[in-house]
Amino acid sequence: MKPISERLTMPELIIYIAKFMFDRDLTDIAGGNISARDGDTIYMTPTLAGNQWHWDFDTDDVVVGSLSKIDEMKKHPRFSREGLSHLAIYQAYPFVGAVIHAHPKYILPFTAQSKPIPPVLNSSKGFGTLQYHNEAPAYSQEQADSIVGVLKGQEDRMKTKAAAVLMPRHGVILASPDLITCLDCLQRMNTNAFAVMAQKWID
Ligand SMILES: [Zn+2]
Repeated sequence: MKPISERLTMPELIIYIAKFMFDRDLTDIAGGNISARDGDTIYMTPTLAGNQWHWDFDTDDVVVGSLSKIDEMKKHPRFSREGLSHLAIYQAYPFVGAVIHAHPKYILPFTAQSKPIPPVLNSSKGFGTLQYHNEAPAYSQEQADSIVGVLKGQEDRMKTKAAAVLMPRHGVILASPDLITCLDCLQRMNTNAFAVMAQKWID
């Protein structure tokens, strides 16, 4: 059997990843969004995918747009309120093929106090210590620009695995070469966050 990424179209892959994330507490009902780039085409989960669809939506609900016609995509009625940061990342780093924003169960407690997350497991050491973007209004262009700034200098991570930016009191956003790699890294980061937390019980 072929690997998942070769069996599914891009919208189908986004649906698969959304379900995978929601089933495993990698994001919640309150939010998150998933996008992928194929050449000039951007695919993105619809706004309120968690709240209104419980992450169970159809291929027709995936928003499709063009990076070269970004203003048209922003006007789409189902354009995700958290989509600006995705588009800013694709524009700044053309080698990025996938972006996932999520509210992972074990990362959220760190964001509540804006505490960076150091790697304590071998599976996460390639990500370095996860850092925060500057305080900015939610869903704003200012927030998107700040996220792009934190990713600067992490190009090698974005080209091979993932670079991540923590969002104060909110969640995390990852940039990767493709969706399957991005999902893999998201789960590694969430497990690593749990391992950091669990040190307190073990000590
Ligand atoms: Zn969010």
